[in-house]
Amino acid sequence: MSKRVLVTGGAGFLGSHLCDRLIADGHEVICLDNFFTGKKKNIAHLLSNPNFELMRHDVIQPIYAEIDWIFNFACPASPVHYQRDPVRTIKTNVMGALNSLGCAKQNNARVLQASTSEVYGDPKVHPQPENYRGAVNPIGIRACYDEGKRTAETLFFDYHRQHGLDIRVVRIFNTYGPRMTANDGRVVSNFIMQALRGEDITVYGDGKQTRSFCYVDDLIDGIVKMMNVENFTGPVNIGNPGEFTMLELAELVLKLTGSKSKIIHQPLPSDDPTQRCPVIDLAKEKLGWEPTVKLEDGLKVTIKYFRENYL
Ligand code: NAD
Ligand code: UDP
Repeated sequence: MSKRVLVTGGAGFLGSHLCDRLIADGHEVICLDNFFTGKKKNIAHLLSNPNFELMRHDVIQPIYAEIDWIFNFACPASPVHYQRDPVRTIKTNVMGALNSLGCAKQNNARVLQASTSEVYGDPKVHPQPENYRGAVNPIGIRACYDEGKRTAETLFFDYHRQHGLDIRVVRIFNTYGPRMTANDGRVVSNFIMQALRGEDITVYGDGKQTRSFCYVDDLIDGIVKMMNVENFTGPVNIGNPGEFTMLELAELVLKLTGSKSKIIHQPLPSDDPTQRCPVIDLAKEKLGWEPTVKLEDGLKVTIKYFRENYL
């Protein structure tokens, strides 16, 4: 059945793909964004669609809308951006969660939180299942994001227990694909842009740290399945369990772009997690979801996007 849906952060990388999918599924979408890292270009093709509406708004302020579903995606996801104004990042996470929950309560709506693998911090358990409680440095430079997202999860579960609110919490692992911005600072966009421009590939530290990369279409599919499932709050990991070192990623990007760029090493930022890989048994069991796109295939599409849009 068609729903009225609010997507906060809807002009960002993931939010804009989510808006596309919801429109394609026949829903009415209100895209809320303050354009901190989002781009009008990401949603320009939707502006003339009668089922799409754009609301310029900051989630730090109360949200008023008549809706059936809320996806709370507003928050810069790249360390470069979320560390630029850390106080604003934590406000976005905490006030944004409170205001999304308040709006959901007002409407008796279902509300989904875009949480993150960062709630596991620099994990001491590997790979990470949902019942692992994490190892986060509460006073480090990543804490504005990590602790903000952890507090948001707390708020979601307290609203659920205290007010009976219909919540969904998804822990998203590193996701990549078209519409990431070239200067976003995340590893996939950095390596691709550096390779395409013939610049040095900047591997931080020894490059042996690992990440697990999920292609955006797989991720959105998992998110939509989670919103549609009954009687399951999560938290649930959504990510691709294929695990790669940053050196392996750099080599793969060099191979796929045919670039002659050199790999150089730069200092590792503090609190950079040494390894990250999701256990996705719960998503398989409860949502019948698992990723289907191999890193090499997803990177080819992403490289094409960067070539066409940024060179
Ligand atoms: P993004 O930076 O591309 O998008 C974030 C969007 O939120 C942007 O459009 C930005 O303008 C908007 N925004 C930021 N602060 C806002 C505010 N105060 N009010 C209104 N809008 C605001 O990032 P993304 O990769 O699309 O991430 C989206 C969500 O998914 C974030 O909540 C992020 O924490 C989460 N997430 C993403 C990943 C990933 O790998 N992409 C991993 C884990 C979690
Ligand atoms: N990284 C890197 N070179 C870059 C950008 C990032 O080696 O130019 C590393 C970074 O130190 C981290 C990993 O790549 O270990 C993933 O970084 P990203 O910022 O994409 O995401 P996150 O650390 O939040 O997972």
